[in-house]
Amino acid sequence: MTNKQTILDLIGKSESALSHNDLLLTLGDTMNRVTIYRILDKLVASGQVHKIIDIDGVSKFASCHVCDEHDHHHNHVHFSCTKCQSVTCLEDVVPAFSLPANYMVEEMNFTLSGVCPECK
Ligand SMILES: [Zn+2]
Ligand SMILES: [Zn+2]
Ligand SMILES: [Zn+2]
Repeated sequence: MTNKQTILDLIGKSESALSHNDLLLTLGDTMNRVTIYRILDKLVASGQVHKIIDIDGVSKFASCHVCDEHDHHHNHVHFSCTKCQSVTCLEDVVPAFSLPANYMVEEMNFTLSGVCPECK
């Protein structure tokens, strides 16, 4: 398995989004931090994973299901747990809003914070 597949696999199997540091803890014996950064950048660029900024400003990564390199399409909500720091994609939750005329959205970042079911 290539390094890229290994990382993609880990992110895909994880229930919550993984940070660079989470990946480094798991893969530190076989990959260095720069390699992991580069691979994450490539995976984001090719539409295989998306980046989420959690409430503490840490970037986390989760898999994409319908994206490709031309169209990253994310309008779901992310939930950031204040107890275990996990970030979960709530793919079925789509926020509704309406913007004033002439505003064009290019990126959405909806993160709710609170207590996840595991910590409740
Ligand atoms: Zn995506
Ligand atoms: Zn939690
Ligand atoms: Zn997500």
